[in-house]
Amino acid sequence: MPFASLGLIDHINQTLASLDYTTPTTVQEQAIPAVLAGKDVMAAAQTGTGKTASFALPLLQRLARKSTPVSSNAARVLVLVPTRELAEQVHESFKTYGAGLQLRTMVAYGGVSINPQMMSLRKGVDVLVATPGRLLDLHRQNAVTFNLVETLVLDEADRMLDLGFSRELDQVFAALPKKRQTLLFSATFSDQIRAMANRLLREPVRIEA
Ligand code: AMP
Repeated sequence: MPFASLGLIDHINQTLASLDYTTPTTVQEQAIPAVLAGKDVMAAAQTGTGKTASFALPLLQRLARKSTPVSSNAARVLVLVPTRELAEQVHESFKTYGAGLQLRTMVAYGGVSINPQMMSLRKGVDVLVATPGRLLDLHRQNAVTFNLVETLVLDEADRMLDLGFSRELDQVFAALPKKRQTLLFSATFSDQIRAMANRLLREPVRIEA
């Protein structure tokens, strides 16, 4: 199946061609149409399956289709990741795939000064990629507001729980709008992940990469 049949706009298909992505991976084939349709997704996907593009491409398209609110301190798509390394990688992917779409993407993680992150959030962002602890710090300081969040992505959800982020995640979930799209990606599905999925996802499309 070619990328062109997944419902992505020409601009994004051209970006993919320039990256020499000719064929979608299994997770991309299943996730891209579901995410474009606004559905929740629960995906079993390891690193290397192309999972990042499977959520980044359709979310970028949805963001680009609707005019961007320049609401101060708001974020429209929130991507939670377990580590700063993954945060950087996912952020880079959004920038690469979103080339020319005029969207604001930002990354925030702990262990570095919070002030530049607070400044960057002032104008609001389309996509915020963050680790849970730093996201909560920013939220507590009113540097980021959650009322305009359209989509929550949990990337490597199992690793976030392994690293002890369960409480932070619960606090973020409690502060998000109830009406939103939620995408959960995890390499493994423990009872704890299943319970989280049951609580967060509404009639999810289930994907096995
Ligand atoms: P990920 O699983 O998201 O970490 O992606 C693994 C690698 O595959 C990354 O280096 C991507 O740039 C690359 N990639 C993702 N999707 C495709 C595709 N459809 N065709 C070729 N390469 C891809």
